Amino acid sequence: MFPWELINSQEEIQSFGESARLSAYKDNRFNSKRDDKKVLKEIEFLNLNKFKNINFNETEYICEGVELARRLVAAPPNSLTPLEMSRQASKIAKDHGLEIKILEKNECEDLGMGAYLAVAKGSDLEPKFIHLTLKSKSPVKEKIALVGKGLTFDSGGYNLKVGASQIEMMKYDMGGSAAVLGAAKALGAIKPDGLEIHFIVAACENMINGSAVHPGDVIKASNGKTIEINNTDAEGRLTLADALTYASNLKPDSIIDLATLTGAIVVALGNDVAGFWTNNNMMAKDLKTASSQAGEELWQMPLQKSYKDGLKSHIADMKNTGPRAGGSITAALFLEEFFDKNINWAHIDIAGTCWTDKNKGIHPSGATGYGVKTLVQWIKNKR
Ligand SMILES: [Zn+2]
Repeated sequence: MFPWELINSQEEIQSFGESARLSAYKDNRFNSKRDDKKVLKEIEFLNLNKFKNINFNETEYICEGVELARRLVAAPPNSLTPLEMSRQASKIAKDHGLEIKILEKNECEDLGMGAYLAVAKGSDLEPKFIHLTLKSKSPVKEKIALVGKGLTFDSGGYNLKVGASQIEMMKYDMGGSAAVLGAAKALGAIKPDGLEIHFIVAACENMINGSAVHPGDVIKASNGKTIEINNTDAEGRLTLADALTYASNLKPDSIIDLATLTGAIVVALGNDVAGFWTNNNMMAKDLKTASSQAGEELWQMPLQKSYKDGLKSHIADMKNTGPRAGGSITAALFLEEFFDKNINWAHIDIAGTCWTDKNKGIHPSGATGYGVKTLVQWIKNKR
């Protein structure tokens, strides 16, 4: 028996429902011995008379968003390709009435997305730049862009992931885009009023072939800045450079990007806590509040300007990687070069939190769907 007297608010009972559903999540899509019998079909709450107007619809929409993110992250790289990711985005658009644009490689070339395309060119699979828009029926009070890193596989490129680099797990390098698409699904169903929300993913693979980017290449991003690629395995920030520039050109009030960006954040905060950086104190406060309501651990990291020296290049405007020490911070400083400084921005590094090998109750082992709940909560708090 659960001590119901401990539950005092509608929010608590809703998060109880959310936890029950998400902890029962199972993924047997790739298993020939599907065990469909043990599936949670229904949760019944009794004696909830003290909670008036309780509505589990929103709880279900959020769970569906988290479950979509988990399915996307857990799907192997020969299943979830950039093309398949664009199809999943189209399905969200169709199901929930969002606008969708998929930019093909030539359209990205026309926009001068030399950083994103440098990463994509080592793969036989075409890149797909995904842009979903959720419009508001009532006048727009605030415009938001959510950007997710979408590397459907990251071999490291010519700086190949070797040794204990977990190359076989690099299907999860699209965890940021999974969170963004999961949030698109949930918010598409919730339809928050007065907000225009853009969901942006520069999806591609980081692979090796004869035309793959060389370590040492200098490329130009769509905002005109040049980058010396001193490490092809720091590819996520290159795709984000053009995705953030694209988002910035939409002139939003705020941008949040989510990315499995650095190993350094895993060293700093482990697998239970994600790190975030922001250029705005109010955004820091709001994100902390949202993540704690959502039950996702988030810790603010510094945008230490003096570390920017680590990105200095002799030949280009910047290098794509700085020294090993403070690696997640220089990654955030790199991203800061690619959007209008007047836009409120936060970057969330989920490299440690998007996957778990432990069963943590609400997160059965595997893809966690980290980020969906915080993003949705952050937006719900604007109501
Ligand atoms: Zn990489």
